[in-house]
Amino acid sequence: MLWSLLKILVFVAIVGLLAMGAIFLMDTSGGVQITAAGTEYTLGPLQSVIALGVLVLVIWLFFKLLTLLVATLHFLNGDETALSRYFDRSREKRGYQALADGLMALASGEGRVAMNKATKAEKLLNKPELTNLLVAQAAEMNGDTKKASDTYKKLVTNNATRFVGVRGIMKQKLAEGDDETARKLAEKALAIKPRHGETQDILLGLQTKAQDWVGARSTLTAKLKAGHLPRDVFKRRDAVLALSEAKDILDDSATVEQQEHAIEANRLSPDLVPAAAMAARAYIEKGKPRPATKILKKAWEVQPHPDLAHAFAEIAPDETPTERIKRFTALTRIHPENMETRLILAELNIVAEDFPEARRALGDVVEKQADARAYTLMAAIERGEGATDAVVQGWLAKALNAPRGPQWVCDNCHDIQAEWGPVCQNCHSFDTLSWQTPQTPEIATATGVHMLPLIVGALEDTAEPELEPEPEVEETEEPVDPEVIEIEVEPVRPDVEPIDKEVEKQT
Ligand SMILES: [Zn+2]
Repeated sequence: MLWSLLKILVFVAIVGLLAMGAIFLMDTSGGVQITAAGTEYTLGPLQSVIALGVLVLVIWLFFKLLTLLVATLHFLNGDETALSRYFDRSREKRGYQALADGLMALASGEGRVAMNKATKAEKLLNKPELTNLLVAQAAEMNGDTKKASDTYKKLVTNNATRFVGVRGIMKQKLAEGDDETARKLAEKALAIKPRHGETQDILLGLQTKAQDWVGARSTLTAKLKAGHLPRDVFKRRDAVLALSEAKDILDDSATVEQQEHAIEANRLSPDLVPAAAMAARAYIEKGKPRPATKILKKAWEVQPHPDLAHAFAEIAPDETPTERIKRFTALTRIHPENMETRLILAELNIVAEDFPEARRALGDVVEKQADARAYTLMAAIERGEGATDAVVQGWLAKALNAPRGPQWVCDNCHDIQAEWGPVCQNCHSFDTLSWQTPQTPEIATATGVHMLPLIVGALEDTAEPELEPEPEVEETEEPVDPEVIEIEVEPVRPDVEPIDKEVEKQT
């Protein structure tokens, strides 16, 4: 408001000053006398000012014509660019305008407009390093992968734009699912720009997917050096990779090197359950039960986990069930209220046939947070105490419809996986599996509940109900497989027969 007022005032003042100047000039006597070719011209004061203005205009036009003339002369003398250079100046201006319009169109998602502007700018500017980039992006937006790919190849040939070209082709290969080529291109791109964070991530992802653990570890180190990764995250991921190196061959025969990798992984991240279990097994293999016990206790302090208990049982495979309960107190006294601790204690007591103690160990788990495993243990306890088949089947039926408790769940896609791995098998993200209770309890679906009377009926007919997998249950997403009972109880007492057989002998 104030500004507009000021502008109006200034305008009025300028008009007033001009009028005053004109009046002053007209009132002034005298003027300019010009003699040309013997004729004398006398100009009044106002006329002389106007004449001066005209003169300036004429001189400007003269110089414009002169430059054109000079350019034409050069052109005639054989310098072809001289004339075009004269016109190029406006051409360049229009070229940059087209480039700017193209960028704007790209940003607003108008692929076709961007492509048209890019083509125009390409013609006007003749600067491929600038326009090719726009052409490639516009082609990608229009879904013209062929054109985009051709343009990226052109970018690769220029030193200044090589990285952009390689990255463009790499992204295309990724989209096509050609991981092998994409990995090589990512390596190439990183050779040009070693600290490029996005490419490092892509390469790391591809390396872990391809199980190239050695390569992945060096990429991870590069990420740390470039400052893209906090040191604690680096340590944990490095441990996961070291563990993966160990895991690959540990399945068949563990060499000393693999054992060292497992121990190293445990040292890097002592709370990583699979690393602790594997490192403990490596020490057991070497005949060193003490460090094995120490590692498992340390990991159990962070998180009680069945894998740790299994590895702990392997330290002394030939002990009696009573000896085992006694030795396990090293673990069970650390987190006595933890669900896992209670379940393990109950399992151990069932194996030792101390069913009242097993019931005590479970405590209120069954009422408060029971999962399939707790119900199954209850069935075993009831059977051991001589309850009727109906009671036992009641618990097993409950187990069938109960959630399965904590499992390895991917933090990224929430997929549930039977075994820990460095890479999610579903979404291929790296180091996303954590031991937790799934958010959506994968209890038996409607069919499972529906089939329950049939299943319970079928249990009556079979002698070994726990070993009979039910086809109906297998159809569910995460079936409560009766075999789980076997798997979960077995490693703690490899020397003893399965529960059901034992119990049968008794009854
Ligand atoms: Zn996942």
